[in-house]
Amino acid sequence: MARDYYEILGVSKDATQAEIKKAYRKAAVKHHPDKNPDDPGAEDKFKELGEAYEALGDEEKRAAYDRYGHAAFQGGGGGGRGGFHDPMDIFSQVFGGGGGGSMFDDLFGGGGGRRGGGGSVKKRGSDLRYDLEISLEEAATGAEKELEIEKYAGCGKCSGSGSKSGSTGAKSCSSCGGRGVVASQRGIFIQQTTCPECRGAGQVIADPCGNCQGEGRAQAPERVKIRIPAGVDDGTRLRSTGKGDAGLRGGPAGDLYVFLHMKEHDVFQREGDDLYCEVPLPFGKAALGGELEVPTLEGRSTIKVPAGTQGGTTFRLRDKGITSLSSGRKGDLHVEVQVEVPTRLNSEQKEKLREFTESVGEENSPMEEGFFEKAKRFFDI
Ligand SMILES: [Zn+2]
Ligand SMILES: [Zn+2]
Repeated sequence: MARDYYEILGVSKDATQAEIKKAYRKAAVKHHPDKNPDDPGAEDKFKELGEAYEALGDEEKRAAYDRYGHAAFQGGGGGGRGGFHDPMDIFSQVFGGGGGGSMFDDLFGGGGGRRGGGGSVKKRGSDLRYDLEISLEEAATGAEKELEIEKYAGCGKCSGSGSKSGSTGAKSCSSCGGRGVVASQRGIFIQQTTCPECRGAGQVIADPCGNCQGEGRAQAPERVKIRIPAGVDDGTRLRSTGKGDAGLRGGPAGDLYVFLHMKEHDVFQREGDDLYCEVPLPFGKAALGGELEVPTLEGRSTIKVPAGTQGGTTFRLRDKGITSLSSGRKGDLHVEVQVEVPTRLNSEQKEKLREFTESVGEENSPMEEGFFEKAKRFFDI
């Protein structure tokens, strides 16, 4: 019995096309055979996803499926599975085709050269992802980091070849006769699946290394140094070529992708290359003007605050932001002042403040005047 397509994609019956596409993308990346070379079930899962997407991702086919179920795609011309396309074609179609410079081409090592009989026993190692949190200061100045990566490393005993003698190398797989795929009967259909013996390579190691069981690699943590350039931002992706999983039986290693995330900063918020912060301004200084100390990423700095500065006023400090990763230009720092009202006044201070308030009178409240003008209708004046 074929599984329900909605269930396969994990979407509801009334999902939009965008939701269906999104669900497919997510699942297809997870179950892509290239990402799961050690899981023979991944290929079937991937194929199932392709079918489900092909049926639901097209409104006409979807309507037919909603009405007739799987029967909608059966009985059509000869090929059993009602003319579904190669799941790989569906995949590249959804991800914008090969060589489009999409991130997934990178993640899968540029595509090409996958599966099929007569291939090599060598297989490229998987790309790895590492999520790293860094501080704003590190993003601004750049940094060096040492990461501990859980990964497959080349086997030291056989130098990664997987072969005991190192040179005897491969022989044709007897399970599949070198084709890399085996056929099995499923109901009335004949289905081809990746050969579990050689995992699709069509060849097996003649004298497997005892240390790595012929894989040429073993799981081992590795410390990897990476250099973070100045100006990186949340979501910046750094690529460390060849630092991913070691390849199978001497295949090339995958790459390591480090995804950067910004820690929240106590003082500064960042927007692009500009920084923002709020600084308290004592109310006497706001009225009289003066110098105000403000923080910058490089340390303290002072700005001149003119007399009569209102709370919420923003001062711009040129070039005190982050150096742009792309243009090399520096962003600015925007300082917003928050006028502070003093608390815990003693009686003498309170008396002076009353005197002051009386002497200022009602006329010297620049914001209040405008406010009452606008808000007249809300007050009984
Ligand atoms: Zn080995
Ligand atoms: Zn085989």
